[in-house]
Amino acid sequence: MKPKMLLSLFVLTFVTTKPEFSLAVVKFADERIEEDIQRIYDRFPLIKKQFDKLSSSELTYVIQYGHDEEQCDAIFETDGHNLFLTFRQPKGYLYLYSLQVCFAHEATHALQFERGQIGFYQNKDGDWSAVNIDLWDEAEAFKTSLEVAGPTDLVGDLGIFKRKYETGGLEKAAQWLSCLYPTLSLERKNNPDVTNIEIANRLFIKKGYKLFCEAYQPSEIPQQGNEISNL
Ligand SMILES: [Zn+2]
Repeated sequence: MKPKMLLSLFVLTFVTTKPEFSLAVVKFADERIEEDIQRIYDRFPLIKKQFDKLSSSELTYVIQYGHDEEQCDAIFETDGHNLFLTFRQPKGYLYLYSLQVCFAHEATHALQFERGQIGFYQNKDGDWSAVNIDLWDEAEAFKTSLEVAGPTDLVGDLGIFKRKYETGGLEKAAQWLSCLYPTLSLERKNNPDVTNIEIANRLFIKKGYKLFCEAYQPSEIPQQGNEISNL
């Protein structure tokens, strides 16, 4: 995983106009992403709600634009210390999903992380991957993003998901998502039955992986240390 660049912190606008916003926990990589997020924050109540929840977290979320060569429109990931919501920078050519749709989707995953529904594990090469994520988590992220979707957002997969959801319910829509996420299961990895997650997490730890998970294994969460200077 590439080291993440945190170029600078610009949060004053939010602090002056939104008293509930916390300086400590959400950071923007540059002014452009901050202005763009401010715009959708002001326009969509859902985005405001999600953002405010993340801003009350004890963890640090970094919001940034990624690089053109990246294939996905957006991604939620970690370096083991901070959480990153990365969005593909809009350019002149076709840009499939709006920023509000991408934000709603990735923030849903971030909030799943906050609840301990999903986590990350680090393999021996140092790369972090999601753990305990299943098709229901993706379905929740798709469903949430529909709340802020405009007509141009519905021309591709999100539009198909909407039709599946409206005609067959969430389970049918989640089933259909397996064509987009073939490695994910319809079996709930994050069943409210906490024991299941504990067993899954222990298995990862036993195999020598480091876990970064908000719930159940706090002693295994890597502590913030010198590596923070990588940012
Ligand atoms: Zn997703």
